[in-house]
Amino acid sequence: MLVDAYGRPLTDLRISVTERCNFRCFYCHNEGQGTPVASPGAPHGDEMTPREIERIVRVASEVGVRQVKLTGGEPLVRGDVEEIVRRLSPLVEVSMTTNGSMLEHRARKLKEAGLARVNVSVDSLRPEEFAEIRGGQLAPVLRGVKAALDAGLAPLKLNLVLYKEALRRLDEMIEYVGRTAGLELQLIQFMPEMAWQKAHAIDIREVHERLARLASESVQREMHHRRRYRIGEAWVELVDPVNNSDFCMNCHRVRVTHDGHLKGCINRNDGLVATRGLDDEGLLAALRRVVAERAPFYRPVLPTPRAV
Ligand code: SAM
Repeated sequence: MLVDAYGRPLTDLRISVTERCNFRCFYCHNEGQGTPVASPGAPHGDEMTPREIERIVRVASEVGVRQVKLTGGEPLVRGDVEEIVRRLSPLVEVSMTTNGSMLEHRARKLKEAGLARVNVSVDSLRPEEFAEIRGGQLAPVLRGVKAALDAGLAPLKLNLVLYKEALRRLDEMIEYVGRTAGLELQLIQFMPEMAWQKAHAIDIREVHERLARLASESVQREMHHRRRYRIGEAWVELVDPVNNSDFCMNCHRVRVTHDGHLKGCINRNDGLVATRGLDDEGLLAALRRVVAERAPFYRPVLPTPRAV
């Protein structure tokens, strides 16, 4: 087990398999890079191969990594995601975050390849509003969600990025998730420092209070100390990283960029550690280094020592 200087064990990898995406979400932080995503058909010679991804995960699994989330860009713009899942699933639990637009005809194959769970970003249930926010169509996404549930990929989390205007859609989303077996709702606090739109920032305490008022019970997850609320039949989880030292102090995740760099924190793009061309020993050293150098982005404020 690799543990950093703040006592945080590394148990999760979040791997971006591509920078390419077929949607254009107005808020997109492109996995913390703050750069625009690439177009789906653009050349992708720098993307890691399935074999490269497998090797990173194999070495990481030997030192305690248990879960891997595939992300992007949009992972399903790659035709070989099923192969990636097939290679990883004997080693770790594999999940994926997708925009869902290409899920309908691939959900079953992904499940057969060993995918454990899938998150689908659904910011609105209204086609026009959805298209405005995401630069894509809602109908195929909802068909993808249904196909994933039919394939047994449950519980399936619908991701909703929370910014000021999105708060209006909250009740509708909770109600939708509550009446659809197998769905949960995951609210992701808008990360304004990455999307350059500070006007959209929200008061997350008010959201917690609103959910708590509606909830019959709530529990805290170990990961990031995220809170989950039971509202009617729906489970609603709040991912609230902004200015949250408790979130950072309970982060057990390292990211891997599409071109094979290890990244210790979503908010940092310095100190990336290259893995390409390394043998297993070199890979392990790279993992040790990124863990040794990782620090919580938001840190607890320690009391000023009293003079004695
Ligand atoms: N294309 C996939 C998708 O749409 O889910 C995966 C990549 S996307 C970058 C991964 C997650 O990051 C999505 O759930 C998305 O909603 C979230 N995200 C993107 N930009 C964000 C921002 N500025 N603040 C908070 N979450 C954001």
